[in-house]
Amino acid sequence: MSLIIHVENLGAEAIEVSEDFDRSWLANIPEYTRENDLGYVKDRIKISGSVVKEGTNLHLRGEVDLTVHTLCSRCGEEIDFPLASDFDLVLMPDPERTSELERQLSPEDLNHIYYRGPELDLTPYFQEQIALELPIQFLCRPECKGICPNCGQNLNYAACECLKKSEDLRLQALRGLKIGK
Ligand SMILES: [Zn+2]
Ligand SMILES: [Zn+2]
Repeated sequence: MSLIIHVENLGAEAIEVSEDFDRSWLANIPEYTRENDLGYVKDRIKISGSVVKEGTNLHLRGEVDLTVHTLCSRCGEEIDFPLASDFDLVLMPDPERTSELERQLSPEDLNHIYYRGPELDLTPYFQEQIALELPIQFLCRPECKGICPNCGQNLNYAACECLKKSEDLRLQALRGLKIGK
């Protein structure tokens, strides 16, 4: 399976690509390619896209669809986190006269990246998109209540008494002040 396109074959008509891969394909984020507690890719990684020539530029549109098996950052439950996103990039011909320094600065504008022919491997663009979309924290649900730091109760299932107790103590302290007057 390959995502290599031949730039000279590109015309006004788009070339479509559609592939799926196992997790070892994500060489740019190796920690997600092996089973571990922090998170790894489960099932197949589905990608699809199209490339069309626009003048000397290439217009790449792509979609990625995968599932990350991981632990909720707040409550610690095991979850399957779906990750689906699309991207739209304009690739410009690599300007050979550009200095190495300029080349290092320009990727800041992620919507304009360079390409080089005659064979262009689209793999890194899809891999990069997945790396960009991985959240820093995975949550089982946006409103996850997490775990009580005092008693360890998963607060998504039941409230614990800790908060109530600390409120009671505060109330008692206030009453004590009033009586003391
Ligand atoms: Zn959670
Ligand atoms: Zn508690």
